[in-house]
Amino acid sequence: MIVVMKRNAKKEEIDNVLKSIEEQKLKPVPLHGTERTVVAIIGDERVIHIDSLKAMNGVEKVMEVLQPYKLVSKEAKDKPSKVRVGDIVIGGDEIIVMAGPCAVESEKQIIDTAKAVKKAGAQILRGGAFKPRTGPYAFQGLGEEGLKLLAKARDVTGLKIVTEVVDVRDVQLVAKYADILQIGTRNMQNYPLLKEVGKINKPVLLKRGMWATYKELLLAAEYIMSEGNREVILCERGIRTFETYTRNTLDINAVPALKEMTHLPVVVDPSHATGKKSLVAPIAKAAVAAGADGVIIEVHPNPEKAVSDADQTLSTEEFAKLMKELKLIAEAVGRKL
Ligand code: PEP
Ligand code: MN
Repeated sequence: MIVVMKRNAKKEEIDNVLKSIEEQKLKPVPLHGTERTVVAIIGDERVIHIDSLKAMNGVEKVMEVLQPYKLVSKEAKDKPSKVRVGDIVIGGDEIIVMAGPCAVESEKQIIDTAKAVKKAGAQILRGGAFKPRTGPYAFQGLGEEGLKLLAKARDVTGLKIVTEVVDVRDVQLVAKYADILQIGTRNMQNYPLLKEVGKINKPVLLKRGMWATYKELLLAAEYIMSEGNREVILCERGIRTFETYTRNTLDINAVPALKEMTHLPVVVDPSHATGKKSLVAPIAKAAVAAGADGVIIEVHPNPEKAVSDADQTLSTEEFAKLMKELKLIAEAVGRKL
């Protein structure tokens, strides 16, 4: 970290800055130029109280050298991380496909979907038992009953399951059934929830807040990892822009950009990113071409009857067709599916 003092900073102000840095157990190295003084801070700058430093008299600005996140950054670990779920590896050569309905609705619906997506080549079944709905009167999910149905679908098909947890009080319950816990876009900055999933020993699929910068997403992942859970998968699921034709706008930049910034695997959700079933396949293909480690796609045996997100949900036949196309894209970029 570098503290740039104002041109006319008094000696006493510079001394106060040096003292404050020393009090925080770091080493200040003042460099007195002809115009002004700058102070380099030696040591792990992430422990310093940057806001109070910025507010000190005589300080013009404070520049960070290290990223504010540690565990997720490439500075900490250069090699890509692989997240393992049984014998499935996310972040390896193989593209991982998670597929299933927006919400678990009934035993028949989830088992039929599971069988169909398994047959088409998906490795993980998705489905919400706890749904974060925009309105309080919309279907909120089946709760534990939904988790039990997901577990049944896993028993029948051997697919692993990913499902969302929306409430800090439900983390243990969801972890009892799920193979991967999903944190949805709306909860990306729910810090108590992030900390709680950081304490369990199951992978977490962390969706990017629809308003969040890459840095904020990485800091959210850091919250989880700093509690001990190192199994985090990032998910780009579209962000809010001025466009209204689509539900969100897929930020395709996020895939290669996050891969430059972090060692964590990155997957893409083309369903929520577009909100339109006609756009799901092309955007899923773009994601794989851009280097995503996987995709998560909403599929329902009867999409027009889906109780949530019907407009963006593929039928099992459409999904099977997409899988064939994705395989070709995966091979073209040196991956497997
Ligand atoms: C979902 O995956 O069903 C979901 C609600 O996603 P998001 O949090 O990205 O909107
Ligand atoms: Mn959905």
